[in-house]
Amino acid sequence: MTSRLQSIRQVSRRDFLKWSAGLLLTSSVGDLSLIHNPARARRSTDVLVIGAGAAGLSAAQSLHAEGLGVIVLEARERLGGRMWSDYDLAPYPIELGAEFLHGSTVSTWDWIVKTKLNGSRDKGETFYVYLDSLLQPDWSLQRDYLAELEAALEDWDGDEDAPISALLSDLRLSDEEVRLLNNLFAPDNAADLDEYGIFGYNEATFEGDGTGDWRVVEGYSALARAMADGLDVRLNSIVQRIAWDADGVEVTTQDGAIYEATKLIVTLPLGVLQRGSVTFDPELPSWKQRAIQRLGVGIVNKLILKFREPVWPDDLSVLATPLSTQLWWRPGFDREEEIPIMTALIGGSSGAAFSRLSQQEAIQSGLADLERMLGRRLSGLLVEGRFVNWGADPHSLMGYSYAPPGTVGLRRDLARDVQGVLYFAGEATNTTHPGTVHGAIDSGEEAAHTMLVAWR
Ligand SMILES: Cc1cc2nc3c(=O)[nH]c(=O)nc-3n(C[C@H](O)[C@H](O)[C@H](O)COP(=O)(O)OP(=O)(O)OC[C@H]3O[C@@H](n4cnc5c(N)ncnc54)[C@H](O)[C@@H]3O)c2cc1C
Repeated sequence: MTSRLQSIRQVSRRDFLKWSAGLLLTSSVGDLSLIHNPARARRSTDVLVIGAGAAGLSAAQSLHAEGLGVIVLEARERLGGRMWSDYDLAPYPIELGAEFLHGSTVSTWDWIVKTKLNGSRDKGETFYVYLDSLLQPDWSLQRDYLAELEAALEDWDGDEDAPISALLSDLRLSDEEVRLLNNLFAPDNAADLDEYGIFGYNEATFEGDGTGDWRVVEGYSALARAMADGLDVRLNSIVQRIAWDADGVEVTTQDGAIYEATKLIVTLPLGVLQRGSVTFDPELPSWKQRAIQRLGVGIVNKLILKFREPVWPDDLSVLATPLSTQLWWRPGFDREEEIPIMTALIGGSSGAAFSRLSQQEAIQSGLADLERMLGRRLSGLLVEGRFVNWGADPHSLMGYSYAPPGTVGLRRDLARDVQGVLYFAGEATNTTHPGTVHGAIDSGEEAAHTMLVAWR
């Protein structure tokens, strides 16, 4: 054990003694799962972590590795948060949330290697585009709309922040091309071009990510399970209230259980923080509330359609469209045992509109888009569909975060600790790599590191 850790343990034991004096009135000391009614039991530990997604699990492992007592409270009955794989639709995982590792060097690889999982490169190269009522192969031969937008963003020399859509007039696009460009942008960035700020977009550099997309062969859910190895994770624990002061925190869950700790790491999605369904007592300081309220809760949903047979051209790997389903791909592309499944990633205002639909309405709407683009009736060939409504999921209420105009620097405020007691992590707190699994992992490690350094 390091000397730094010894001093931490001394602090937490001292605090623990203070708390346990009160607890002893109603209980016996042991592992502090103290009294018979589990709902009313008080449990104490060094650090509580809220959320068992990528950020929470990486933070908890960093602290656990230092010998600290850590309990992770997770609202859902499963691990992983926005990492969630389906193992029934196909003989390989179909990703319902995060699907790719964006590059060969992102920190997610550290976990894949450490936990002996595998990554596979996405080899899809033939991008189709639906434009002028035509399904057109080989996008690379066409105008590269995103590259033009990126160049305009780089050239931007305005002093005032503005929505990215302010750059559109320079690009000389038709209305349909603007819709296409927006639909290329929104699924990746969880916001439309008129919602995302230029400064905030440029702040997220994704430096060091490398090129190419990869999948976790065993599925992101398998990664989440591996990341939780050895941790004390309490599933079905919906945190409702966080009471805190300079000495520590008391966290109450929906079933009435109470947990106490010296420090807390909050990895709640920005959507949940913004909704205010978890209360802080006393309230968070105004600079923190400002960051929570002003950063953008972006919507990204997935629609997955499984067919009896392939209904698309053999070489189609990705399909971009100005229609509301935005961006489609084949999750099993290149697999010998490929099942005819198409996934649509739908973000921004289209994603928000889909969030208001029922399962059946969303599936029918997606099917209608595919029928229009492929020019044939498909309903008789549909085996099943699944609409994953992250925007309406109470434990997410979002796809991922974005930065509206005027919010540069607020991600740093979102990440900043409050009085050395409340620490914050999660994709939205990552200034340079938001909206990604590796950004969330890095933020969890960073919060744990900051806590350890301050706790000397
Ligand atoms: C459709 C979609 C596609 C994506 N695709 C990619 C991709 O290809 N590549 C990529 O890198 N990233 C992708 N992402 C983004 C990535 O999934 C997220 O950035 C990352 O998983 C967020 O991790 P997190 O730990 O910050 O949050 P989360 O994973 O959301 O974890 C937060 C946890 O807090 C829990 N929680 C919520 N409320 C409570 C409560 N009251 N009490 C206790 N627990 C609570 C939640 O259940 C959740 O488990 C995608 C996201 C979506 C939605």
